[in-house]
Amino acid sequence: MGSIKVAINGFGTIGKRVADAVDAQPDMEVAGVTKTGPSFGCDLAAKKGFPLYCTSDSEQMISSFENSGYDCRGGISDLLGIADIVVDCAPGKLGSQNIEKYREIGIKHIFQGGEKHSLTEMSYTSCANHEENLNADCSRVVSCNTTGLSRTLVPLFNHCGSLRVECTMIRRAADPGDSNKGPINAIKPVLKVPSHHGPDLMTVAPGISINSLAVAVPTTIMHVHSIVADLPDGHGLSTESIIQLWRDTPRVIVMHGEENRITSTAEVMELARDIGRKWGDLHEIFVWQDGVKLDGNRLYYFQAIHQESDVIPENIDCIRAMMGTESDWKKSVSITDGAIDRYYSL
Ligand code: NAD
Repeated sequence: MGSIKVAINGFGTIGKRVADAVDAQPDMEVAGVTKTGPSFGCDLAAKKGFPLYCTSDSEQMISSFENSGYDCRGGISDLLGIADIVVDCAPGKLGSQNIEKYREIGIKHIFQGGEKHSLTEMSYTSCANHEENLNADCSRVVSCNTTGLSRTLVPLFNHCGSLRVECTMIRRAADPGDSNKGPINAIKPVLKVPSHHGPDLMTVAPGISINSLAVAVPTTIMHVHSIVADLPDGHGLSTESIIQLWRDTPRVIVMHGEENRITSTAEVMELARDIGRKWGDLHEIFVWQDGVKLDGNRLYYFQAIHQESDVIPENIDCIRAMMGTESDWKKSVSITDGAIDRYYSL
């Protein structure tokens, strides 16, 4: 088939990153992006040359863009009419509204982790269930936290055949661009126990038995996971071979914290800025090598997640799976990541 035409509904934190990642791919193009109304984000769309549409079909809303000097090509229905697939990047919990429009028009659709699995009955991470998503009509790329868990736990599970996991998600309070969230001077436990994060992993990797607790802390740059995994008898692994397993896994970076003087999320984000992707993004999950320890059958480790960006390349692989153009997840990952890195001229 020709280039896959991708609509991006919602051009915020995730949407603008997905749009760039689509634009980078050799087999995809941005059919258009949507905004609810004129705002500074429209300038970014204009600068990138992404056709701009309105999230609604209201003539009044569409003309409000024109009145503010933006070239708006039409409403969401116009955009969905010219696209092959839509990536919904609207704020969480709007999915049940937006899905009606996608079904009515009959377009394939991908939601994000702010929606529940029950909305789509299909979820996605590249390493866990790419094949299940082949030619699917709808799916959900799981949250940044669930994606992070999948990256390191799925290869372990594939080696061991079973895993029991307990983890604590130490979550950033807000994204750097948010001014309406907190806490700013407190540690806030999620009192729904277990939190949804661990169990959400089972929507893509049902063989992993996992529970999680979560706390929000006053930082905006990353999440940290503190993970305890019980491996089955006869796993045949050592601390060193687990580290090697992750080194061989796409989109996982393992580095020695003390030796490299990279002992907190602040330095990890500085490393990300050095890599040079836009917005200082880090698509990979970061594991501190010196924080990994296998004690008998029990494995302990920490990992850091750049919440705004680890899901971005996963959306690209999910598009390929649902369009049925690449059935091998590792090949898709290689195309996606190579194209993104060339795009930002690494
Ligand atoms: P955001 O608020 O930064 O951006 C959402 C965009 O959608 C905004 O531009 C908003 O104006 C627009 N919008 C509002 N109503 C809309 C509608 N009805 N239809 C389409 N667009 C609409 O939100 P975000 O952080 O980009 O989150 C988007 C989704 O991605 C959520 O499901 C969220 O849970 C998930 N997610 C967010 C992060 C993160 O760290 N920000 C990480 C992983 C997943």
